[in-house]
Amino acid sequence: MISIVCPVYNEQQSVGLFIKKMKEVMQCKNVGFEFLFIDDGSDDETLRTLREEKRNTPQIRIISFSRNFGKEAALTAGLKYAKGDAVIPIDVDMQDPPELVLKLLDEWQKGYQIVLAKRVDRNSDSYLKRLTAKGFYYFHNKMADHKIPENVGDFRLMGRVVVDHINELPETQRFMKGLFSWVGFKSSTINYARPCRENGESKFTFWKLWNLAIEGITSFSTIPLKIWTYIGVIVALLSFCYGVFIIALALLSGIDVPGYSSLIVIILFLGGIQLIGIGILGEYIGRIYMEAKQRPLYIIEKEY
Ligand code: UDP
Ligand code: MG
Repeated sequence: MISIVCPVYNEQQSVGLFIKKMKEVMQCKNVGFEFLFIDDGSDDETLRTLREEKRNTPQIRIISFSRNFGKEAALTAGLKYAKGDAVIPIDVDMQDPPELVLKLLDEWQKGYQIVLAKRVDRNSDSYLKRLTAKGFYYFHNKMADHKIPENVGDFRLMGRVVVDHINELPETQRFMKGLFSWVGFKSSTINYARPCRENGESKFTFWKLWNLAIEGITSFSTIPLKIWTYIGVIVALLSFCYGVFIIALALLSGIDVPGYSSLIVIILFLGGIQLIGIGILGEYIGRIYMEAKQRPLYIIEKEY
């Protein structure tokens, strides 16, 4: 059986069309399937629409959260409750084309436990989004021990073993793309051009994406913490050389009073560097704090 896992947040216009398309696609394959919708605290008619669809489509299962917990939490729940031998997280806005699921399944039947869907054409995203995404993958993969494949979103196929291993990971700060690749296993990749959203608008603001990027980097690398030792050493060395230079100058040409500009520049520069260092410590300590609380990742209000 195949589980189609869909996190939905205010997608009332998209779910109907998505279910129709997805059913057509699944009928081409002679396999059992389930739809697992995670309603991430939508405040429009998403849940009601889904429940109505369920009347005609018994394969639909719905888990509804008590509030909006975010896509990472919704995906975590989706993987946990999915029953299929293969699990495919997919967006309902048609940006992850349903017909591609057939290709994913073909690769899976060849024996791959992970099949990635790579966006080779992101022209549907704005220039700024493509640029920042590129920057993110670059920095993340330079720093993290485990690279995440570039331009691969949450849309992919994972076999049961992979899903079980992801479900066992205990952390509450969950950057799913990172966790997906952390577990390893051989993967196959298919390429696609990412179309535009059919209905509604993106739920990810620039600020949300920025936080997701920080989450990704802090979850999978401690380099931002360690780098301060080296910056400190370099700054100390430079100051030592400068000190020697000033002393030599004073000995050779007498005491020279002016020096306000160099002083203020150095003080401000070092102050800035120290604040960045403290800020980065704060990012990690904040995450340790959240992890230590051991709060659940989400609260399920009801299952249908
Ligand atoms: N989503 C969610 N919770 C959120 C934000 C988004 O479950 O807090 C879902 C959303 O309904 C959609 C998927 O995540 O099915 C991807 O969101 P979106 O299409 O807005 O992101 P984009 O494609 O612009 O990256
Ligand atoms: Mg989308």
